Amino acid sequence: MNHLVLVITEQRDGALRQVSLEAVAAARLIAGDGGTVVALVAGSEAASHIAMLTAAGADRIAFAADPVPELSAHTERHLRAAAEAVRQIRPTAVVLGHTASGKDMAPRLAAQLGAGQLSDVIQIERSGDSVSFTRPIYAGKAFEKRSFSKLPWVVTIRPNNFKPAAPYENAADAPATDVTVETVTAPDVPLRTIVKQIAKRTSGKTDLSEAKIVVSGGRGVAGSDGFKPLEQLAEALGGAVGASRGACDAGYCDYSMQIGQTGKVVTPELYIACGISGAIQHLAGMSGSRIIVAINKDPEAPIFKVADYGIVGDLFEIVPLLAEEFKRLKS
Ligand code: FAD
Repeated sequence: MNHLVLVITEQRDGALRQVSLEAVAAARLIAGDGGTVVALVAGSEAASHIAMLTAAGADRIAFAADPVPELSAHTERHLRAAAEAVRQIRPTAVVLGHTASGKDMAPRLAAQLGAGQLSDVIQIERSGDSVSFTRPIYAGKAFEKRSFSKLPWVVTIRPNNFKPAAPYENAADAPATDVTVETVTAPDVPLRTIVKQIAKRTSGKTDLSEAKIVVSGGRGVAGSDGFKPLEQLAEALGGAVGASRGACDAGYCDYSMQIGQTGKVVTPELYIACGISGAIQHLAGMSGSRIIVAINKDPEAPIFKVADYGIVGDLFEIVPLLAEEFKRLKS
């Protein structure tokens, strides 16, 4: 069976989020060779994202004429548009990023559709007509493989696990294509919640859950100033800064940076753990990283059991040296 898959895309500061291009790649896997992928984009800047989405594998684009392009904190508004898109397009599957907004939207949409939902999917396999989905369970200690017994399906995908066909850094680099564009107009029903203000607490340029490189600090950083060398290393590498709960609980950084069982789950290409012991709850949020580097002055620290590379030593000596060296290599 070929599927008609709807991808609900997300934007941040006017740019498409990388996870939305990955969702298109995941949707392509579900759709199969003869299937169709439709990307739903919201807001007045939506036209500028067509080339990126088609390059990533979308066959059709649906515009939600909504003045608020960011999904974040506006779930109810976007849910109206998404539900209308489903009514109009009649997809057999819907794919979203497993982001704060995607996690908020997916179960509401699934409930409206009477559909089954699978969250945090990391792998999709097609064998003939059957499609199976793999996702971590028990805080990443095991994996389960599932498939749906009835249509439609709602799926959220974990960032950094599906590779878009043609990932472009900038919209301007993606070649223009001829693609069918349809408009979705959400019914003008009153909203139950109105967002008056969004106060951003983090200023990092790279989103933690989508970052290809994450430099994380634990209680070993010994204070908020201890994060400065980590920020410099992350900047030199073009990565984001994360933290253990130990560092957050100690008041060294904001909880929005917490990685782990009760924080964010990250799967970057490179994870550098600085002054983090490697508690099981922390590993739940980062053990899927491709390469793990641990810097810790205790050679017995459990983090070394999961690390691909371990450096035994003082982070305050090692991290600045690494930052300096990566800066030198870049220049
Ligand atoms: P510590 O365990 O104190 O380790 C600090 C490390 O820094 C040590 O290994 C030490 O050798 C090293 N160090 C010290 N100084 C230096 C230096 N100068 N240079 C190099 N190394 C140095 N934790 C999370 O991270 N994320 C979660 O989501 C999470 N959820 C939890 C949920 C529950 C229900 C519970 C019970 C706990 C949870 N925790 C979580 C807490 C977790 O159990 C640990 O307490 C926490 O991860 C420890 O943080 P840490 O590694 O920074 O601190």
